Amino acid sequence: MDSTKFEGRMLIGGEMVAGSGGAWIDSENPATEQPLGRVPAGTAEDVRRAVDAAAAAQPDWAGKSVWERAALLRRLAGAIRARGPEILQLEARDTGNTIAKLTADVQIAAGYLEYFAGLASEMKGETVPASAQGLHLTLREPWGVVARIVPFNHPFMFAAAHLAAPLMAGNAVVVKTPETSPLSGSLLGELCRECLPAGLVNIVHGLGLPVGDTLVRHPRVRRIGFTGSVPTGLAIQRAAAESGVKHVSLELGGKNPFIVFPDADLDKAVDMAVAGMNFSWAGQSCGSTSRLLLHESIHEEFVERVAARLRALRLGDPLDPASEMGPVNSRRQHERVMGFVESARAEGARLVTGGRRPPGEAFRRGYWVEPTLYDRVDPSMRVAREEVFGPIVCALRWSSEDEAVALANGTEYGLTAAVWTRDLSTAMRMMRRVEAGTVWINFAGQHFVGTPFGGWKDSGLGGEECLEELLSYTQVKAVHVLP
Ligand code: NAD
Repeated sequence: MDSTKFEGRMLIGGEMVAGSGGAWIDSENPATEQPLGRVPAGTAEDVRRAVDAAAAAQPDWAGKSVWERAALLRRLAGAIRARGPEILQLEARDTGNTIAKLTADVQIAAGYLEYFAGLASEMKGETVPASAQGLHLTLREPWGVVARIVPFNHPFMFAAAHLAAPLMAGNAVVVKTPETSPLSGSLLGELCRECLPAGLVNIVHGLGLPVGDTLVRHPRVRRIGFTGSVPTGLAIQRAAAESGVKHVSLELGGKNPFIVFPDADLDKAVDMAVAGMNFSWAGQSCGSTSRLLLHESIHEEFVERVAARLRALRLGDPLDPASEMGPVNSRRQHERVMGFVESARAEGARLVTGGRRPPGEAFRRGYWVEPTLYDRVDPSMRVAREEVFGPIVCALRWSSEDEAVALANGTEYGLTAAVWTRDLSTAMRMMRRVEAGTVWINFAGQHFVGTPFGGWKDSGLGGEECLEELLSYTQVKAVHVLP
């Protein structure tokens, strides 16, 4: 399946280029550990060239009408859809995400470009009756060069979708791809080269240090949009603060509660407990509902029913449309997940199902982990506190609503939460009491375009996928016209 190796390039100044340092990052298929391709390992010098190219292209872009910008975003969306099958094949092999669900990533990426194109006229200012004689108005203007740094779990979707708001707002963009699964970033580079003015979008590959860090610290980059882990988010805040006064938005991790009350529709709740874990990406989603907080009266039944569903999930080749779960993304990620298996065992959680490499020849190589469920999990255990970013879900028991709320809010994260109850009053109380940027009532997992997605507490800063994201890529200028 991996006979043709993919050799990617960076997009800098409208050209697909190799890195100035001559080094490469190899990418392997996490399902087989076979080499898949490579991309240039960018250098600090490559980043500086990318920022210079972006800075040179940005004034012309900002000088275009919003309608011209919107037309080019739609053109890029069309090009992404047209190359969709090719992108998906490469992305499934590079990430291990199953192709059946990955199809949505291409549509979502194109959809965000179209959504933000449709918000063109929303970057409007205001007039303020601040004096009797004057005209007092606000303008929304771009920041200039924006950095967008993306993680490995949906590399194409994040890189493409995250162009939309900054470009619509009149900025130029430098995207930094993840160090594992970077290949599709090169395809995005080719599409941007075809559809957009040279230098407007630049795509650099490479390690966090030096590539991401140089980008964050560059004096011409004053707006940084980051999606990734909490430790990297904190490093970016520090680097940004050391290099200028910069606006940083952060989409970080989660340890998201799935709270089931005794009156819930248990059939639906069991379905959504599995769907909310995003096993199609081996649980590697920031929004995965990885903590089942179950009322004591339904706890045993719920755990057994979820376990039965996990045992029935079909693991297999990510390119097979029948596969429901692939491997985790990389050796590093596999070691991380197995580290949680070890800590859960050492701390006395009950392993209900999973916790090992699946049996069989097909899974001998590659970064496979069975879907895993722990019961009798204490909130103090590592598996209950830290984001695994893998196919591990744990069940905790509660007996009163206050206890459920304390468990739900008892981590440093606050990204998503799901509440399951048929009682409207319970739902109304819980939607307010839970500390999270997104709360699903009798649902889980899905993002809804136009509504803000963003974390509370250590899960992040700033809402995305909505008008707020677009406006955050503008800065406001007050103008006073006096007779
Ligand atoms: P990561 O933080 O390790 O890396 C993310 C990106 O940051 C990569 O491109 C990496 O090269 C870069 N980077 C690393 N060090 C850097 C530095 N010092 N300066 C600048 N850039 C640097 O995250 P990951 O392992 O790729 O992704 C998993 C994490 O992403 C999980 O915590 C997950 O929850 C989070 N995530 C959040 C969302 C969200 O919307 N909230 C979405 C997807 C993933």
